[in-house]
Parts: sequence; C-alpha cells; structure tokens
Amino acid sequence: MSGRVLVVDDVPTNRLLLRAKLSAAYYDVFAAENGTRGLEMALSEQPDMIMLDVLMPDMDGYTVCRELKARPETAHIPVIMVTSLDTPEERVRGLEAGADDFLSKPFNDLALFARVRNLLRMKMMFDELRLRDLTSRELGLSDFVSEQDIEPDYSAPILLAPGSVEQGRSWARYLKSGLGAMTIETCSEREAQNLAQFELPDCFVVNQTMMEGGDGLRFVSTLRARPETRQAAILLVVNKGDVETAAKGLEIGASDYIEAPFDPSELTARIRSLLRRKCYSDWLRRSVRDGLKMAVIDPLTGIYNRRYASQHMNSVMERARDTDGYFAVMMIDLDKFKRLNDEHGHDAGDAVLREFSRRLQENIRGVDLVARFGGEEFFVALPDSDHDAAAAAAERIRRAIEGTAFPLPRDKGEVNVTVSIGVAIADGSDTDAEAVIHRADRALYEAKEGGRNRVTFYAEAA
Ligand code: GH3
Ligand code: MG
Ligand code: MG
Repeated sequence: MSGRVLVVDDVPTNRLLLRAKLSAAYYDVFAAENGTRGLEMALSEQPDMIMLDVLMPDMDGYTVCRELKARPETAHIPVIMVTSLDTPEERVRGLEAGADDFLSKPFNDLALFARVRNLLRMKMMFDELRLRDLTSRELGLSDFVSEQDIEPDYSAPILLAPGSVEQGRSWARYLKSGLGAMTIETCSEREAQNLAQFELPDCFVVNQTMMEGGDGLRFVSTLRARPETRQAAILLVVNKGDVETAAKGLEIGASDYIEAPFDPSELTARIRSLLRRKCYSDWLRRSVRDGLKMAVIDPLTGIYNRRYASQHMNSVMERARDTDGYFAVMMIDLDKFKRLNDEHGHDAGDAVLREFSRRLQENIRGVDLVARFGGEEFFVALPDSDHDAAAAAAERIRRAIEGTAFPLPRDKGEVNVTVSIGVAIADGSDTDAEAVIHRADRALYEAKEGGRNRVTFYAEAA
C-alpha cells in the first residue's frame, strides 16, 4: 500500500531518518521543518498521513494537531504524534488534541510500519466514504460533519476480554470512572464469541491472551470476519514491548493497541478516540446510504423519480425481448392542477399529490413501477401487459381518483380531482425507452385535448 506521508520535525536528522525509512518502503515522503510550515503543507499537499513531532520551537505538536483537526480541509488526515517523552500524560494530551496514534523515538521499525499501514488503511476507507458523502452534500442532502464534531456514544456496553479476572475488573473500573461506560466482562473466548453475536457491542478490549487459554488475536480476527462486528472498534492489549503481537494484531484487524500495564487515562483516551472514529464512520455510512436513496426517491411522495424509472425501463424492455411479450407505459397528469393550487394553496396541492401517489400504488400490481417525473406528472411501467390489461389498469386508476374526493389538509373539506392518462403499448422490438415514453406522452396530450378525465392509447391517438 503506497501513500503520501508528511513529516513535520524541527531536527534535520529526524526528518532524514524518517524519510529514509519510509521511502525504502515505497511511501512518498515530504517534510516540513516547523509547525507553521507543516500546516501549510498539509493544506496544499493533502498527504495521506502526517507524522508530527511534539517538541518544536514555533508551535508544539499538540497545537498543530488541534489546528489540523479543526479545519475541514485537513481534519480527515490521520496524525501520528512522534515523541521522545513517552509518558502516559503525553499520550493522553496527544489523543485529546485529536492524534490518531503515537510513536516513540527511537523508532522500532515493526511498530512504525504497523502503525503507518493501519492508519493508511483507515484513511483509504474514510476517503471512499467521504467521496460518496460529498456527492450527497453537493445535492444539498447533508452538511459537512468532521470527526471532531462527533460526540462518542457510550450507550452500548464495551465488551472486555481480559487475561484474568483482576485485569477485567480494573479495566471495567477505569472505563466506568473515566467515561461512564458500561462493560461486559467475559472469561473465555467461546463466551466472548457468543456475547459479540448477541450483545452487539460497538467496542472490544481484547487481551493478547484470554482466560482459559483463549487467543486474543484469533478472537480479533473472528470479530472482523463477522458482518455484525465488522465495523466495531477493537483495542488489543499486548504485553509491554511485544511489538510483534501488536503489529500482527493491527494486521489482522485490531483498530489500535495499547501496551500493558498502562495508565487508566491512556485507556480511556484511546477508547474515546476509537469510539469517536467509529461513530463518524457509522455516520458517513448512513449518510451515503441515505444519499443513494435520496438520489432515486422523490421526497414529496416517497416514490421513485425519473432517473430511477429510466434505469428500470431497461429491465422491462429486456424482459419483453426475452419473453417475446408486451409491456405498457402510462403517463398520468392531474387535470387543472394549477387551479387547485390557486384555490386551495400549495400545501393542499402537495397533500393531493401524496394521496394521489398512494392511490396510484394501491391500484397497480407489485411488478408495476410508479415514478414521479416532475410536477403533477406521473409514470407507470407495466411489464407483461398487452392492450387489454393496460386498458383495465388505466381505467381502474382513473376511477380511483375520480370516484373519491381528496381530503384537504387541516380539515378544510374535500376537493374533486381527475386525471388524464396516456398509454403506449410496446414489445420486444422496442429498444428505446425514451421513444416509448414519448408515445405515451403524445397519447396523454390527446387525452387532454379530448376533454380530460380519460384514458387514451397511442395507437388510437396516432
Ligand atoms: P392540465 O389539466 O392541462 O394538466 O392543467 P394543469 O393546471 O394541471 O397544468 P399546468 O402544467 O398548467 O400546471 C401544473 C401546476 O402544477 C403548476 C404548478 O404550480 C403545480 N405543481 C407542480 N409541482 C407541484 C408540487 O410539487 N406541489 C404543488 N402543490 N403544485 C405543483
Ligand atoms: Mg396537469
Ligand atoms: Mg402539467
């Protein structure tokens, strides 16, 4: 996995050292000699990751990190704090400034590359989600939210898979007093597997060895493989100095690791930042899913829009070709709808459109597809329908509208509504959806000309 890494350090030999190590592993490296320059380069170069020295003369690493995380243009870039003062207080300060990870000087290569790979992988996943989220934001469907805006959610219990009963108790105590988080402790790998499936925790703290001979790494890898826990945050606890297990853990899917024994504040700071990241990715995923839905659904009526219907027409036509059968297309337009709006208000118009699409859906088959093409114009595709079937469906719809008055909002009485319907019949030889729709449109025009509240077929209209 290649990536572009920005190294910010005031000491030239440190910059050279990191550049040499990272370049040898095929990362593109560029460097800045102080915090101010680092901020500028982060903005202009948009690196995939930043390695940030803590002690620098102009602006310390924490301040630079906070700045980076506060700006929408750089908030998504992972930051590794590089420090020679490796104390719990320093780590906690860094995590609170928004750092994603730490490395202490002098570097252990295994730890360095494991951390770098892990963060780049995370960045790639976020980039993809953010890209899709951007589309929905461009459509005006969602606002920009940065990871730092997210308040982590501690309502779901955190599952603890410790190496001993005492260890589990102390973790539970730290997390309760530090975050107010609820925890569930397990004593075997098997029990942990079951709980993961039924309690669906968002977050796991897993010791490298679990009670009753359980294997922490094996548990982490099962969690990643299962759909219900694939997106969970997993913190692996390794023995001090066991960088190999830590690196392997990140490789198989741990989100982060911590070396035991640790300071309680480091545990809580790491869990807080993991959960924030998890909530952020959940939020992005949701926003992408809603965005995709919004792209094909008409917001007023909740039925498909024209974009979706055009796509759908391809499969309707394909089916007609395959079965050598017929299909029908209807264009439906509300009669004198402008007058209804003028007399009763736009709200009343909207309510009528909603009720109309409800009745429309009630009077078609499951295989038929309705869409709102715009304004008061609707579309129905009817697969496997010949002239008689389409005529019956169109007439049923026309009567369902004419037959029962439409209630107006806020108990303002009722209003009578009628529709005009144009129908085109097509078969497997029709390969141009727009041409078929155009024929239905022509028929609709004839229905309007003929006096409205009626069904007209294209063949008759031509
Ligand atoms: P015709 O019988 O010839 O179709 O006459 P009409 O008045 O229905 O047709 P026209 O195209 O002149 O007017 C359509 C009206 O539909 C104009 C517009 O204000 C209204 N309209 C379009 N979209 C909406 C909407 O989303 N909500 C509401 N309330 N009105 C809408
Ligand atoms: Mg109309
Ligand atoms: Mg119209």
